[in-house]
Amino acid sequence: MKGFLYFFETIKGLLVTGKHLIVNFFFHTINYIFRIKTKRRGSVTTQYPEEKREIPPRYRTKHRMMFNEEGTPRCVGCMLCVTVCPSDCIFVKAEEIEGKKIATEFIIHVNRCAFCGYCVEVCPEDAIRMDSGKLDFVSDSQKNLSLNLLFKGKK
Ligand code: SF4
Ligand code: SF4
Repeated sequence: MKGFLYFFETIKGLLVTGKHLIVNFFFHTINYIFRIKTKRRGSVTTQYPEEKREIPPRYRTKHRMMFNEEGTPRCVGCMLCVTVCPSDCIFVKAEEIEGKKIATEFIIHVNRCAFCGYCVEVCPEDAIRMDSGKLDFVSDSQKNLSLNLLFKGKK
């Protein structure tokens, strides 16, 4: 008898799921085909890359280097981030310039990065942040998935 009750509940559940599937599918497809913009979303599908999801401000995205007013990187090459990184994907080279230690190379191999944010938390100089809002990683080689944080051009 109990099995019989489960059968009805299963059918009921399937009908609810089926209803949402059909309504969402048609609503979404019709809106997309006719480019109708509405506040009600037909489904959770994002038409990437035409449509981009809003990234919450605290979401961890690509790293970026912070620079001093004179344009030098804030990183003093203390190696704390290198030590704490669980993925062993940070490479830092620092030199003493005019009596001050400054990073001359700062590479993060993002193909190995776990986006844990430990490197940001541990930095005593607030030199790196993960608030760039960028999450696109496209490459046909691992070499190109290395972020040069000292490069100031378009990444
Ligand atoms: S976010 Fe985590 S895994 Fe990525 S570089 Fe920083 S410490 Fe390493
Ligand atoms: S980024 Fe911060 S923690 Fe990492 S080496 Fe530079 S100063 Fe040290």
